[in-house]
Amino acid sequence: MINKVPLLQIKNLKKYYRVTSGLIPRPLGEIKAVDGVSLDIIEGEVLGLVGESGCGKSTLGKAILRLEEPTGGQISFQGTDVLSLNKRDLRTLRGKIQIVFQDPDSSLDPRMPVGDSIGEALIVHGVSGAGERGRRVARLMEKVGLEAGFAERYPHEFSGGQRQRIGIARALAMDPRLIIADEPVSALDVSVQAQVLNLMMDIKDEDGLSYMFVSHDLAVVKYIADRVAVMYLGQIVELADKEELFRDPLHPYTEALLSAVAGLRRGGGSRILLTGDMPSPLKPPAGCRFHTRCHRVMEICRAAEPAFREVVPGHYAACHLYP
Ligand code: ADP
Ligand code: MG
Repeated sequence: MINKVPLLQIKNLKKYYRVTSGLIPRPLGEIKAVDGVSLDIIEGEVLGLVGESGCGKSTLGKAILRLEEPTGGQISFQGTDVLSLNKRDLRTLRGKIQIVFQDPDSSLDPRMPVGDSIGEALIVHGVSGAGERGRRVARLMEKVGLEAGFAERYPHEFSGGQRQRIGIARALAMDPRLIIADEPVSALDVSVQAQVLNLMMDIKDEDGLSYMFVSHDLAVVKYIADRVAVMYLGQIVELADKEELFRDPLHPYTEALLSAVAGLRRGGGSRILLTGDMPSPLKPPAGCRFHTRCHRVMEICRAAEPAFREVVPGHYAACHLYP
């Protein structure tokens, strides 16, 4: 079903934020929000990206589209070097890659009928005739499970789940190839989450899309992803096919994340407690960044950073347990 052509290739991507302090600003250092991420997204797949809040998931999503300008690294989309695009070509790219955010209101103007919000994207896409635009808006609304007649209504007249459907319709108006979905159901009632996830899966199959699906919720990722990448303090620490990752996690961080969800705990094992908070990305720990919280920490972990390597075919981890 999935052919193995990388749609998006990310190499050693970095996004650092300079931070300053004081009235006369003095440099404090750099927040390494994304610190050397390499990832591919294969045509037709759903790549799940998980990790605790603050680990850099949103920054990674935005850096791919240069909504946050990367500090370093390479991004290639359909063979095009994203970081060397001029303004015009970047605009074209931002049609092909769409972001759907957790809060649909961030992309909907409260004073604009939702049909116009969706239609706006069509204008950007070069659909200038009002009649054709109206027909397309109607089709998009139906595609996301809303009555076309609701196009005249304003965002506040819809529920959260419906607003997220409108946000998805707006993204689809650009006829994208890749959707970066950043916690798209995290703000929704649990009862509505599955409906929106199912909608996203149906659309993916109909339109042959690929997703980077960002979530801190492992149950959601387990439901929707083909492969899963686990992120910790700005880096990918494990990557594998979903079944393999949930059955046989290699990285102690993944193990701890899974064990925190009762339904995902393996073999009746006991819960592994993640002690302490995630360290500051301003001063990541030396050696392995996870060593301060790791239940399998060894001497070498404090001294040397583990390489991200293929431990078994298709299953990557950055951990000294697998030298
Ligand atoms: P996640 O989406 O995984 O919760 P984010 O990508 O939002 O994480 O944030 C990663 C880190 O980068 C956090 O420490 C956050 O505080 C920091 N960060 C994000 N955006 C900015 C910014 N504009 N300026 C400074 N720091 C930022
Ligand atoms: Mg986020």
